[in-house]
Amino acid sequence: MLSGRFTFINEKQDGITKANLDKVRYSNQLNTSMNIYNSILPFWVIFVFITTCSLVVYHSIYFSEKSTLPQQSDKGIEEEVVQTNSKDIGDSLIIPDGSHANYQLFLKMFSEKQFLVEANIKVENRSETNWMDLQFYFIPNLINAAEIKEVKVDGEVMKYYLSEDSLRITLNKALQTGKEMEVSVSYTLTPPEDDLRLFRLDGSIALAEWYPMLCTYLNGWQKDPFYPGMESFFTGYSDFTVQYELLDGYTLSSSAEEDAPLHSRTGTLEARKIKEFYISLTKDTVIKTKKVNETVVRVIGSKQNEQSIDYVLDIAAESLKFFDQKIGKYPYKQLDVVYGYNYNIEYPGIVTVSDEGDLESQKHPIIHEVAHQWFFGLVSNDTYNDGWLDEGLTELSTDLFLLVHEKESLDESFAWVNWLYNERKPFPSNEPLEKYKENGGTAAYLYAQPVLKLWEVLGKEDPSGNKALAFLSDYFHTYTYQIVNTDEFIRFMKQHYDVDDPYFAEWLDFTPDYIYWKL
Ligand SMILES: [Zn+2]
Repeated sequence: MLSGRFTFINEKQDGITKANLDKVRYSNQLNTSMNIYNSILPFWVIFVFITTCSLVVYHSIYFSEKSTLPQQSDKGIEEEVVQTNSKDIGDSLIIPDGSHANYQLFLKMFSEKQFLVEANIKVENRSETNWMDLQFYFIPNLINAAEIKEVKVDGEVMKYYLSEDSLRITLNKALQTGKEMEVSVSYTLTPPEDDLRLFRLDGSIALAEWYPMLCTYLNGWQKDPFYPGMESFFTGYSDFTVQYELLDGYTLSSSAEEDAPLHSRTGTLEARKIKEFYISLTKDTVIKTKKVNETVVRVIGSKQNEQSIDYVLDIAAESLKFFDQKIGKYPYKQLDVVYGYNYNIEYPGIVTVSDEGDLESQKHPIIHEVAHQWFFGLVSNDTYNDGWLDEGLTELSTDLFLLVHEKESLDESFAWVNWLYNERKPFPSNEPLEKYKENGGTAAYLYAQPVLKLWEVLGKEDPSGNKALAFLSDYFHTYTYQIVNTDEFIRFMKQHYDVDDPYFAEWLDFTPDYIYWKL
């Protein structure tokens, strides 16, 4: 997301110099690991030899396939693929998502303020551990917007535990590896007037994170504290069926590829392989559309901002077209831009953009939110602990759009991140979100610092921005529908560029590769 008003206002930062501490720790780690490294040398040599041989074969196949220019995708979109350098530095660390959920949601509006929801969630244990409990994000509870009526597991009424944005169910019998169970949660939902994501505003209703969302299971349930303003939930890719029943007069737009006809009161929405399902209900709606390749871009505005909708539509369509071509194809038939809510926020298949300020100040947030479809929507990361991966790469894509497509100067394209960067104190970009509360907020560290540190390397080799886009494209194609973390990003970047651990230690808190070898 980007702040509602896209202005160059920064939050205050204090003077913690953790990056310096990290450098001390890094050099200690280096000494320790070198001792271990010496003691396991024969094994290490054999391991590296075998790994290198297999990767040389793999990468020679992979990159020879990717080197044809341009490529025709199966949607008929001409994707540009600029071949990038690559070298073999170790296996990709695929992070297996141990939990999986498919959702069947029933949403019934029974007053202008309140809904009845029944969420049926098929939960599958894909981990190697049998589970005795299930954990969900239930953000409506945090803002007093929900009252649970009943929780059932496989038809049996169960006790549950609510705390802030967490819903936990203790099971009577374990959900074993490879098995599924069905969780049903019924509740009333009353969106408040003053929330950021789930709210009522001038007759419109925004439903974000409005149902129980199964937490990701890695070595345990990944449930971190709620962090206002940012995505602090970490969900997997799921299929959704949403049946709705509305009162008269609303227009529904959502994460679904095909929304119902205007003003339809009932219907069923479907979406496959997305991380969350967003719904917007608007009144006095004005919709304008434009086709980009196989995708219909829709801007959903109102009579109040009708005169600006064409501008928003042009920018959204141009950026979708650009990212489609330069980074990778957008896989859905529709991209919605809800225009006029207070905040600029990304959701799968749909984004919200504020209509505050002049049109020029709305341009950057539109591009940024569209770019999130690739970094957040289609490549996943733990937004609480590695939020820089989606915010940083999204902002880099945005700045590259300005540089390459809009032909702005380097200073103009990177103006916002340069300004933020100069205001920051030394602090890593991959700390848990709560650490940024005491460091002046997330913008300088999750957005600006990654962009400028990456550009230091990517832009040095090719200041036109084209190789940087090719790097993002490789990254996107490698990790579509996967989870990436900081260590894996570092491994990937080392594969493409001649960068060393001290470079990363300047701006990331991480464990260098050779630490893994001792494990
Ligand atoms: Zn963002």
